Amino acid sequence: MFFKLIYRLLVCSLILFFLNLKPSFGIEDGFGSAKKIKSKHFTIYCAQDIEVTTLIQQLDIGSSDKLLAGKPMDEKNSSQAELADMLDTLFMRVCNILDMPLYSFQGNIKICKDIAQLATIYYNLFNKELHAPSFYVFDFNTIYVSLENFKRQIVGHEIAHAIISRYFVVLPPIKVQEILAGYVEYQLRK
Ligand SMILES: [Zn+2]
Repeated sequence: MFFKLIYRLLVCSLILFFLNLKPSFGIEDGFGSAKKIKSKHFTIYCAQDIEVTTLIQQLDIGSSDKLLAGKPMDEKNSSQAELADMLDTLFMRVCNILDMPLYSFQGNIKICKDIAQLATIYYNLFNKELHAPSFYVFDFNTIYVSLENFKRQIVGHEIAHAIISRYFVVLPPIKVQEILAGYVEYQLRK
């Protein structure tokens, strides 16, 4: 009798465990088969037909950024390695601007082919209209951005949100987070 009860409890808790996991598996954002590029701090997912060279041009992280981030000036031997290095450089710059060292951070960046795809993903996740060029989802530790908005200040703004949300044990108010991310954006525009 006792063992039967334990067995039932175990089965129930296993079902609850899988039900709990369901949201993260259940939301299909269309990036399941997307091209993946790994950097030190990010796994970068590119929607179909996005050229890595276009991403590099738009992000425009140069030698002065590398210098400010304290990264070596070595040449990368592929455009994928170049993009990965640029995003790690941008990450370091954002850490420095916020004065929040978080060097073990790892997250995801998903690049949509256009703003319509980005808005659809946002709607599926939050059941709301999107009024921003990009967004960060804490639960998935993922930055979503569209190709046309893949620019240093916009990606940097979302990296700031990712850093802030992982740096503090108790999160500051949303308005304060937005001010900090806005400050990073301003610094990166200069
Ligand atoms: Zn923001």
